[in-house]
Amino acid sequence: MAKIIRPQRAGASSVQSAPNKKAAKAATPLPKRAAGKAAKKPAKKIAKKIAKPKPWTAAEVYEVFDRFRKANPEPRGELEHLNPYTLLVAVVLSAQATDAGVNKATRPLFEIADTPEKMLELGEEKVREYIKTIGLYRNKAKNVIALSEKLIAEFGSQVPRTRAEIESLPGAGRKTANVVLNMAFGEHTMAVDTHVFRVGNRTGLAPGKTPLEVELGLEKVIPTEFMLHAHHWLILHGRYTCLARGPRCEVCLINDLCRWPEKTV
Ligand code: SF4
Repeated sequence: MAKIIRPQRAGASSVQSAPNKKAAKAATPLPKRAAGKAAKKPAKKIAKKIAKPKPWTAAEVYEVFDRFRKANPEPRGELEHLNPYTLLVAVVLSAQATDAGVNKATRPLFEIADTPEKMLELGEEKVREYIKTIGLYRNKAKNVIALSEKLIAEFGSQVPRTRAEIESLPGAGRKTANVVLNMAFGEHTMAVDTHVFRVGNRTGLAPGKTPLEVELGLEKVIPTEFMLHAHHWLILHGRYTCLARGPRCEVCLINDLCRWPEKTV
């Protein structure tokens, strides 16, 4: 039996930096006369001004990822897995669930079923039992069995290496394909989850209304040398520092570069 891969937790990303004077200035209430003038301006014009922060330069983007790399040279995802197949299953199970919740369920499951054949042998009902603490578990159990059948029938029991083939598996979408291609096969893909979506938008690195827009935007601006780990740096940054509620801007190692008008430094 292979050993469970227990990924590292986030690296320390708590470099204190000098408070951002511009942001502080921006956060200062307008003097009465100026505020009066602003109030007369059409709301649309003001919104436009706020929505267009200074574009990032290539040097600034490089600086951000260089800092991430120095703080955490080998970032790892937090979904536990044993091989590409168990990684695929874990990612399919992780939709609308936390990595910690998925790990709790998959630890005993993968101990007895770490190949498509063993998963089929276990059967849908038992798989359902193992994963019943995860949201949407009935449908997910169905998908795990169906994708295992398809892997055996069409891919020689191996996880395929192309996006189209992975996306053809039941329960697997673009994000699943990106995670598997990146973590199992070292491809320079960018999986956009809720954390990456938030960080891409807040920082202004790759604003977008959809995960695909953010994904393509990030791929465009991030230098190739950082692409292998960029996905994990951004996820970990969003999960532990740039929190959805109450981002920890005061300990954020890119707070001087971040374009979010509401940052608290
Ligand atoms: S400064 Fe604040 S908003 Fe900007 S990336 Fe850091 S934690 Fe997020």
